[in-house]
Amino acid sequence: MERRTKQREVIWRTIQQAGRPLGPQEVLKLAQQRLPNLGIATVYRTLKAFLEDRRIVVVEVPGHTPKYELADLKHHHHFVCRKCDRTFDVNDCPRGIKNMAPPGFVVEEHYVALKGICPDCRNHGAGD
Ligand SMILES: [Zn+2]
Ligand SMILES: [Zn+2]
Repeated sequence: MERRTKQREVIWRTIQQAGRPLGPQEVLKLAQQRLPNLGIATVYRTLKAFLEDRRIVVVEVPGHTPKYELADLKHHHHFVCRKCDRTFDVNDCPRGIKNMAPPGFVVEEHYVALKGICPDCRNHGAGD
């Protein structure tokens, strides 16, 4: 397989199998398990191509590194850990959120992000 195609495929599989949104550095680390010579520039270039193809979407929470996830996931929300900066999926959705808009407004979408400390950081994060 051509090198560039191979890199694309490994990065795609990394995002598919992650089970949560990944930042560029996370994609790099995981993909390097299969392609040790992979560089961060290739990761950025490939993420950009996937975004343009609408295969992935960006998950942005203010104050945190943008993460990337598959574009065709069903409706869900995110939890961002303020210590390790990792993002996790949250499958619960607040009830009655549509009723928060003032009378006359039609709600079509909503975004909810939870921020806090993940179990790993709770258990091992005594240092800082
Ligand atoms: Zn954490
Ligand atoms: Zn929701």
